[in-house]
Amino acid sequence: MRFKDLSQLKRPKPLIISLGSLPQHILMAKYAKDKAFKISERVGVIFEKSFEWYGFTLANNDHPELITDIGLPQNDLNLQDYTTLGSQRIAEFQESLPEDVLINGWIHSHGDLNYRHFSKTDEQNHLTVLDFVAARTRKPLAKKEIAIQDLVLLEKDHFDQKDLAKGSVSLITDGPITEAKIMETIYGSFCYSIVIGDEGWHEQQIHCREGGILSGHTTVWSRSTNIKFIDTQRTLNPEEIQAIGKEVKEKIQPNLNPPTELIERM
Ligand SMILES: [Zn+2]
Repeated sequence: MRFKDLSQLKRPKPLIISLGSLPQHILMAKYAKDKAFKISERVGVIFEKSFEWYGFTLANNDHPELITDIGLPQNDLNLQDYTTLGSQRIAEFQESLPEDVLINGWIHSHGDLNYRHFSKTDEQNHLTVLDFVAARTRKPLAKKEIAIQDLVLLEKDHFDQKDLAKGSVSLITDGPITEAKIMETIYGSFCYSIVIGDEGWHEQQIHCREGGILSGHTTVWSRSTNIKFIDTQRTLNPEEIQAIGKEVKEKIQPNLNPPTELIERM
């Protein structure tokens, strides 16, 4: 047999119906941005020296894509512990938050270093944070047809073992049918990563994970992006600035003599 046209050999494309999308850029309240740089400023004033700190970006359950606040966990004296951000530490911090607040990423400072990009250690931390926050930032992105070769349709109470031996997948229905499509939900999760410097610069990425329940196929990817700052009418007032200073004193402990290998890893 000869084919007139090779396109006849192509398998039909699976049906995909879009249901939603992951964020294309970071949405951040101006208040949260001001707070992050205020933490850096307080660190410099209180300890008379600039150094790194890290925190979590926070959102409300009803809008997980908008960073509304910065959460400052207890930072470690031990820099090694801190550069390898563990899920246990993130879990502890999540537990301390009100029910309607979720962690949607992490933020850290490179202090007065002019190192304006993420390090290898930071890359590890992105994945740890994504792993932790994925369940809470998860949303359906699409319904996608699963192409099953050799799908066998059977009717309840009208088949035997011999029929089950046929085909790669059997769909058993309560009535006679001649055609069926199997569609799985593709879920997507994200987390944000932001690094800032004392001079006012910031760099950021979105980390995403997409996967289908039935096919078990998961992809993880990230992209550099910009931040859209949103005016949420909330501003840092003098009491809050004072509270930030108090938190910095309690939660950030300067390690003024970190081993040089740790500085390099930063
Ligand atoms: Zn870093």
